[in-house]
Amino acid sequence: MKNDKETVNLVVGKNILSANDRVAAENRAIFEEAGVFVANVMASPGAGKTSLILATIERLPPHIRPGVIEGDVASRIDADTIAARGVPVVQINTGGGCHLDAPMVRAALTDLPLDSINLLFIENVGNLICPASFDLGAHLAVVVPSVAEGHDKPYKYPGMFASASAVVLNKADLEEVFEFDHPFFRCGIEMVNPAVPFFVVSCRTGRGMDAWVAWLVAALQTAQKNR
Ligand code: MG
Ligand code: ZN
Repeated sequence: MKNDKETVNLVVGKNILSANDRVAAENRAIFEEAGVFVANVMASPGAGKTSLILATIERLPPHIRPGVIEGDVASRIDADTIAARGVPVVQINTGGGCHLDAPMVRAALTDLPLDSINLLFIENVGNLICPASFDLGAHLAVVVPSVAEGHDKPYKYPGMFASASAVVLNKADLEEVFEFDHPFFRCGIEMVNPAVPFFVVSCRTGRGMDAWVAWLVAALQTAQKNR
């Protein structure tokens, strides 16, 4: 009977994911109802998720009103940075959990003024593995690798790059310092997600930010037209 245990584990794992998917679908309905376009921002720790969110917010046209959910294992450091800019923000602390799930996002929504925002960034826990498997109800999966992490990431974490609706390569000002092999990196992305929109930015210098923000705003406007 040794196969019984494996069967049970498989079924339980499936149920956890489908429970998450159910809440994610409800989150998506809440976002649609409120007219909020949602980007799930995923990256490894230190790639610059918070910096990208801040640099993006700075460049948004006035009719786009942003809000942020910050996901971290611990601390309010990123939420305080966002709040200092006058942007509505809720911090989720996972207490050790390595990804956000849909119920965590649902709980955070009660503390966000959904009626007065139309673009929500959900900054996921720094991790290139499981965040890709948990639907939060977002419209976009934005993956933010950085030059400092090296050019091999699409090869080592194909699931994350395959799930992306946009890839934003950050810290482009450091390509020479880190001897970043740009063609090798691009080739890795093309292997797993050939049509994904790809942007090269530096949040520090502002390089490439305008193209990324223009794409994001166009995606939001297309989604709102189709409501
Ligand atoms: Mg952060
Ligand atoms: Zn995880």
